[in-house]
Amino acid sequence: MTSQRTRERLIQRLRTEGIRDDVVLGAIRAVPRHLLIDEALASRAYEDTALPIGYGQTISQPYIVARMTEVLRAGRLLDKVLEVGTGSGYQTAVLARIAKQVYTIERLEPLQKLTRGRLVRVGVRNVQYRFGDGSRGWPEHAPYDGIIVTAAAASLPEALLSQLAIGARLVIPVGPDSVQELLLIQRHETGYTREHLERVSFVPLVEDLS
Ligand code: SAH
Repeated sequence: MTSQRTRERLIQRLRTEGIRDDVVLGAIRAVPRHLLIDEALASRAYEDTALPIGYGQTISQPYIVARMTEVLRAGRLLDKVLEVGTGSGYQTAVLARIAKQVYTIERLEPLQKLTRGRLVRVGVRNVQYRFGDGSRGWPEHAPYDGIIVTAAAASLPEALLSQLAIGARLVIPVGPDSVQELLLIQRHETGYTREHLERVSFVPLVEDLS
């Protein structure tokens, strides 16, 4: 079921799970998650679960997308946002509704091509796509008001820290499979602060060592 009612049920569930930002909930309500996954799974699109998207990857659970977006936004208007790990484009589409411009990087070219086509079809326009290793960021458009990483890094990528604007936020899962922590890093005039948010489970961030 992809009806308005099933979407509304998801929003209610996210509220009970602690998501408070109405702008974020509005973005989740508006994004057609069922059009960003294979048709065979479309009937499960508004369940609060991760689902397979092929290539050994998953579309993130709506709760996690909502939580990361809420923490990234922190009630601010965002101009430029960088996303590492385009995947299905679900997080991308949510970001595109809360930021003026989204830059997204994916290391699997065929997956990004598929996703780009789907996002264009559902009317998402304010996104620029890049194929490659996102742990290096996208320096040409830096600094960013916010950076979201949707794959688990072994350690904090230095390049991403340096591409944050003063006052900007980075939300990133860090750690090996069993013990990943979602971290919030904030850049200040004088340095960075770090906050542990919660335990999470993401596919690994694959860094290109060449
Ligand atoms: N937000 C996405 C999550 C997809 S899973 C969604 O909801 O669909 C994480 C994605 O990160 C995968 O598509 C994977 O290929 C990609 N990825 C992993 N390592 C990467 C890297 N170093 N650079 C860019 N993308 C990467």
